[in-house]
Amino acid sequence: MRLELEDMNRLRLIGQMAAGVTHEVRNPMAVVRGYLQILQRKTPAEYAHYYKIVLEELDRAGGIIDDFLSLARAKREMNERRTLRSVVEELWPLLQADANLRGQTIRLEGGEEGEAMPMHPGEIKQLVLNLARNALEAMGDKGELVIAVEESEDGVRLRVRDNGPGISEETLERIKQPFFTTKKTGTGLGLALCIGIAERHGGTLTIDSAVGEGTEVRVDFVKSGKASEGRDGSRG
Ligand code: ADP
Ligand code: MG
Repeated sequence: MRLELEDMNRLRLIGQMAAGVTHEVRNPMAVVRGYLQILQRKTPAEYAHYYKIVLEELDRAGGIIDDFLSLARAKREMNERRTLRSVVEELWPLLQADANLRGQTIRLEGGEEGEAMPMHPGEIKQLVLNLARNALEAMGDKGELVIAVEESEDGVRLRVRDNGPGISEETLERIKQPFFTTKKTGTGLGLALCIGIAERHGGTLTIDSAVGEGTEVRVDFVKSGKASEGRDGSRG
């Protein structure tokens, strides 16, 4: 008992420190970014690509800080009862804009509103957004992203499917690890975060992928009270 309390306090302390550090580091980074952009405009074209790299790396560092903050946060209260679908719908305009910018399309599947579940809506939004962004980033400009919210035997299921390049067997083995990325400016923290969020909400994340066809990430949320049994984590 005593240990548990100490763990809780330690987690809270880490969370608070991470929040403080994030704030203190983010501010000077924003100043640096601003001045870099001014310099970029005043620099001969031959050096322009240096600025592009510097800015990208700065943003990458910023992304790592933000993701780390999310990872370090102590378990938050499941403070609302919402349907998964309502959260996805709330996010829809943002996803639509992201896709449109890249000339891609998105589609929402699954008809009914479904049952409300206890959740931290901010975290669920982050989960959906991370999975959707991965899909959009993987696809070319003819890509189609499908997000489905549907009833399952013992709860509700989220599916995020793309018709991108898919993931090779050897990459698939590593992508859930924090900091593993195949992107030039990736942080490799997106999926690790998603898994943490899914687990906190009684969910399991499964990835199915076929090279040349696409990828589907599924999160199965089990209604509390129902045991999860015989769930297979097979990949196609
Ligand atoms: P990041 O997006 O910063 O690279 P993630 O943890 O979100 O970090 O993803 C890790 C890696 O998993 C990506 O770099 C990519 O190689 C692979 N990946 C994730 N989602 C997809 C997808 N839908 N299609 C293809 N590859 C993917
Ligand atoms: Mg990602």
